[in-house]
Amino acid sequence: MALSKPFHKFNVKPWSRKWYGCEKYRWFSDEYFECLTRSYSATIYHPVGTAKMGPPDDPMAVVDPQLRVYGVKGLRVIDGSIMPKIVSGNTNAPIIMIGEKGADLIKGHLYPPVHVKPGYAPIPEYLKNPETEKNAVGGPLSKIGHLFGKFNFLKFG
Ligand SMILES: Cc1cc2nc3c(=O)[nH]c(=O)nc-3n(C[C@H](O)[C@H](O)[C@H](O)COP(=O)(O)OP(=O)(O)OC[C@H]3O[C@@H](n4cnc5c(N)ncnc54)[C@H](O)[C@@H]3O)c2cc1C
Repeated sequence: MALSKPFHKFNVKPWSRKWYGCEKYRWFSDEYFECLTRSYSATIYHPVGTAKMGPPDDPMAVVDPQLRVYGVKGLRVIDGSIMPKIVSGNTNAPIIMIGEKGADLIKGHLYPPVHVKPGYAPIPEYLKNPETEKNAVGGPLSKIGHLFGKFNFLKFG
């Protein structure tokens, strides 16, 4: 990419230092890239999947689809570790969603409320009425709540 025409005007130069362990290969040769691919790996702070969710016949699964640990009563795992595979984007937002879903599961809500039309983002009650939610009063959440309340008709997706 860096060597492609559109990047010329930015004077972009690929990093010329050879990757450790791949010095013997010609820079940018197929062998060099193979060596780089095999020896360079990084988590960029996004490790997931150490307690994979999966069906009971999956020997690698740690939790079931309701995030309950197989073989242990009364224990759930609700964090990034339950992802069966890493997501293609950043991990924080999907993990917040896992947290929300896990909270619903604990409360016994397996499905979204029936009155929610498909395609509409459900708005939690405390966001619609921040006065009733002690922690949200005056805080940034209440402001978002008012905004959501105002634009409740917006369709998502
Ligand atoms: C430097 C950095 C930058 C990042 N940047 C981004 C980004 O820009 N965008 C993005 O989407 N993601 C980013 N991430 C990734 C994202 O922050 C994580 O994927 C996400 O926070 C993981 O959530 P989690 O709930 O699975 O785990 P964590 O957020 O790690 O939560 C684990 C919690 O468990 C607690 N804990 C640990 N052991 C115990 C114990 N024995 N008892 C009780 N509590 C315990 C910890 O204190 C912690 O609060 C970044 C991560 C890092 C480290």
